[in-house]
Amino acid sequence: MKKIDQDELLNTQFMESLQNEPMKNLISGEWVETPEIEENINPSDTSDIVSTFYKGSFSHIFETIDCASKVQADWAKSSIALREQILTEIAEKLMANKDFYGEIIAREAGKPIKEATDEVVKSAEFFTYFAAESIRSKGAYMDSPRESVDIEVINEPVGVVGVITPWNYPLAIAAWKIAPALAYGNSVILKPSSQTPAIAYILAKIIDSTKLPKGVFSLIYGKGGVIGKALAESKKVQAITFTGSVGAGKDLAKKSIDSMTKLQLEMGSKNSLIILDDADLDLAVEAAIKGAYNANGQKCTSCSKLVVTEGIYEKFLEAYKAKMKTLTVGNAMDKTSNIGPCIDKKQLDSNLAYIKLGQEEGATLVCGGEAIKTSTEGFFFSPALFVDGKSQMRINQEEMFGAIACVIKVKNYDEAIHVLNDTEFGLSGGIITNDLKKAMQFKHDAVIGNVMINLATAGMDNHVPFGGRKNSSYGSREKSYAASDFYTTTKTVYIKY
Ligand code: NAP
Repeated sequence: MKKIDQDELLNTQFMESLQNEPMKNLISGEWVETPEIEENINPSDTSDIVSTFYKGSFSHIFETIDCASKVQADWAKSSIALREQILTEIAEKLMANKDFYGEIIAREAGKPIKEATDEVVKSAEFFTYFAAESIRSKGAYMDSPRESVDIEVINEPVGVVGVITPWNYPLAIAAWKIAPALAYGNSVILKPSSQTPAIAYILAKIIDSTKLPKGVFSLIYGKGGVIGKALAESKKVQAITFTGSVGAGKDLAKKSIDSMTKLQLEMGSKNSLIILDDADLDLAVEAAIKGAYNANGQKCTSCSKLVVTEGIYEKFLEAYKAKMKTLTVGNAMDKTSNIGPCIDKKQLDSNLAYIKLGQEEGATLVCGGEAIKTSTEGFFFSPALFVDGKSQMRINQEEMFGAIACVIKVKNYDEAIHVLNDTEFGLSGGIITNDLKKAMQFKHDAVIGNVMINLATAGMDNHVPFGGRKNSSYGSREKSYAASDFYTTTKTVYIKY
């Protein structure tokens, strides 16, 4: 990939400007200030204000929608070569400064620096992938059973797409939504999480530095409830792609019903990892630890239910506890930290409340589960492990979104699969086994969108569909070739000659 020279985005001056002046909204192709300013705090060190930003209101979002709607028709007619060029340039600019952008993610999202930098690389890959997708031929030309009639099936852009993103993958999720939206000729309005505005600003600055026509991409900060309502109720917004909590997703769905907006909702989860008697023990422990605690357990694909059959239970527990002792909690910017902070005090309090609840429900806390102090003032929590878990306990039903795992001992595969499916969610799940028959059976029995065999529940590839079932997802799949289902609409043309 071509290396881009340093520009104003990439150097320490830009970093300083993040701290010295509030980040503006990109509305109608202009960088706009608003009356209200909010701070963006580093959860590893609350004395570090990463940036400040201007919050948009109803009037700003309406202006943004109007402009996005006006320019979309021309963008839809743009050449696929231009789209390919723009998306490639965005990927190159992300890669050219991946370490710096990784630091921004680590600072504002509390994600350990290596995982944060990996996220930048993955994000660039989405732009590269969809750069190629934009020049792939789509549609079909067919015969009709009627004489002298031909049929064309065309995929057209859906129109104006609202993109609402969470804080836990602030760049990757924005990338896997924005890249296909632009590739297929849509206008995009990005509403990032108020907890990770800086990386959204960087992405917007990069996009704005390309030849993308003004107004085709907009960035608007503000409260999800306010901006989400305006996007959902507007007849000029044809589609909204949202990733976040179930409550916010359902709220958006209710508000969109009158405008009949096309929706794609990626929401919460409760994922299990099954470990059978014949499992490779080292592999099982590695997959369980990675699934439960990577990204501080704040991943939609994290596994908090470890469903272990009785023959391997004691051995697994000993090895798991030994591995837990090697984990270091600390500042996300410190390369030696395996686990960073919770995103905010609310999440830390929620983790502590779930620890109390688990004990009240009869589970036994064997490790961690406490607020801890480090050299900086942050929202640190020691990774926790419960045993004696039962499927119906709230700690095994609700998404905790923290570094908390609970082991549920089961007799056999049948009981394990019942526990895995015993949830209102259906995003991801895994099994660790050397039994080919059980692995194949699992593939069919698990009522989830992403099946992992001898792998952790987290860690998805870019070029294949992603999504879940039940309360985890609504609408068509994200990423890959499947993204065109959401970002395009099909038109069938009959031609008599
Ligand atoms: P969140 O609180 O629901 O927020 C997500 C985004 O939605 C933010 O930009 C937020 O804006 C906005 N929002 C909040 N209320 C809204 C409403 N009523 N209408 C429209 N937008 C609204 O979620 P989060 O805490 O950022 O992220 C954690 C959740 O995301 C977890 O449940 C996790 O499982 C889920 N997640 C799912 C996937 C997946 O692919 N399935 C991937 C990652 C994360 P403000 O916060 O700025 O107000």
